[in-house]
Amino acid sequence: MDRAESARGSAIPEPSTAPQNRPDGWLAILARDPRRAVEEDQIVCLICGARFRQLTNTHLRSHGVSAVEYKQRFGYNRGRPLMCRALSRLYAERAVLTGLASHIRNRPIVTDPELRRRGGMRPVTLEELLTRRDARRAAERGAS
Ligand SMILES: [Zn+2]
Repeated sequence: MDRAESARGSAIPEPSTAPQNRPDGWLAILARDPRRAVEEDQIVCLICGARFRQLTNTHLRSHGVSAVEYKQRFGYNRGRPLMCRALSRLYAERAVLTGLASHIRNRPIVTDPELRRRGGMRPVTLEELLTRRDARRAAERGAS
């Protein structure tokens, strides 16, 4: 493809626009904001681009990564469920019904001595940074 393009004498693509023109570029774009890979009825695997209702350990193992490694690699929050929003809501509703909610309400800073020792410090994920930035921008828009 590169040779054909140079043979036609086409301009060298701008680095900023090149990914959008390449068929494999959309995954990289999605990975810049991994939240966008999680849609209402599907979640996109950021490694191969396949779509699922839920990213299973079996699928992730086929890429040689665990769910924890996958979340770290793409900057997801540790607690992010790797499933579409509809499924995640369904599980959340079920968890409330079965009384799991009381466990979730446990604040780690209170129950985890190691976390308390570090003063609640933990690495901030890309997902969290993006969410904070969006919240800040929304607040700024509201203020102006
Ligand atoms: Zn995959």
